[in-house]
Amino acid sequence: MKRKRKKKNVVTSGDAVVDWIFAATCEVLNNGDIQIVIVRRMEKRTKLVGRLNDNGDCCHKFDGYCIHIEKSLSERGKWRIFFHEILHILLENNGEKLIKEGEDLLWARMSEEQKQIIASYFKKLLRPSRKSSTKSGQKK
Ligand SMILES: [Zn+2]
Repeated sequence: MKRKRKKKNVVTSGDAVVDWIFAATCEVLNNGDIQIVIVRRMEKRTKLVGRLNDNGDCCHKFDGYCIHIEKSLSERGKWRIFFHEILHILLENNGEKLIKEGEDLLWARMSEEQKQIIASYFKKLLRPSRKSSTKSGQKK
């Protein structure tokens, strides 16, 4: 069977707001210098710095961002947290509660195709694991 080619290669969910945020997300991912690092026991890390328990975080590094994601999450769980952290970048932080609510709502409404695109960015930006990549800054 012949595969249909879409006119403008636009992936939609059928929901204009979701598609708008999705497009903005892709723009951040295309233009930002973003790196993903998978870490173990993210929960402990976030407790240490006094944040809400979270399975990920996002911090500035030089001219871009570094996103940490908890290792024990499922593959899809990691994509979702990755999307959550991109929302922090997109909405310039805006508070955990709002971002979490946005994540829940958008993730539920996004099409599988859109999630797969997020996943492909995730795989592309993932830094290969190194033994001593989780600590930085604390020791001299
Ligand atoms: Zn968050």
